[in-house]
Amino acid sequence: MPDRTPCVGGNWKMNTRAADAGALAKSVADGAASVPGVEVILFPPAIYLQEVAGTLSGSSVALGGQDASEQSDGAWTGQISAGMLRDVGCTHLLVGHSERRHGLGEQDALLNAKLHAGLEAGLDVMLCIGETLQERQADRTADVVVEQVQADLANVPMEALSSLTIAYEPVWAIGTGLTASPEDAQAVHALVRQTVGSLYDGTSASAMRILYGGSVKPGNAADLFAQADIDGGLIGGASLDAEQFQAIVEAAGQSCCRS
Ligand code: PEP
Repeated sequence: MPDRTPCVGGNWKMNTRAADAGALAKSVADGAASVPGVEVILFPPAIYLQEVAGTLSGSSVALGGQDASEQSDGAWTGQISAGMLRDVGCTHLLVGHSERRHGLGEQDALLNAKLHAGLEAGLDVMLCIGETLQERQADRTADVVVEQVQADLANVPMEALSSLTIAYEPVWAIGTGLTASPEDAQAVHALVRQTVGSLYDGTSASAMRILYGGSVKPGNAADLFAQADIDGGLIGGASLDAEQFQAIVEAAGQSCCRS
């Protein structure tokens, strides 16, 4: 059975300015050097990717785009292609963050196209899924996450799965200070893994990293990451504070090497 390297992503969203972005990236890179068993990825605003790429150069911290167009280059004013992200040093791409699904109305068909665009450009894709509060209250969490995994992975070949990570982020927990209990999160992660297994096979499912996101902080990270199917976290608010982010990376390091 393959070991899954724990992973922590920092999604800066629409925050920072060039000077803070460079300083924050430098602190993250310095901290990550002391936790070699964890893959750390930063997702800065697109306009600061080059700045952060320069700072991260030579470090173990990877760089990702928060979004990319589903189109390749061409007449798409204002859009950024996955190939452009590669060109400025990105190795990763976020797809399907709840702020894009629910704030900007991106649907599964579009997200599937973006996922394919990222893979075709040679990027590793982190696919975000998760239910809204309304869906949770209607007891639809399981249906929603299974439907999202099925729709968003449509036509993704098995050999591309090693370039894919799933982040389960209950929408009601993002930026709210509310977190799924470790047991509730574990149950959804196990379901996501089972869904990947039924779409592909058990080996692919057990190798797939599934991160948790939604108000992860230094105080709750260790309990979440101790769960059998939680392989790290996607961090929003706490990723803007180098000390908090480092504490979360260290918590992931302590949960290392499960299969
Ligand atoms: C996120 O943006 O993916 C996220 C999980 O945010 P926060 O950690 O602030 O809830």
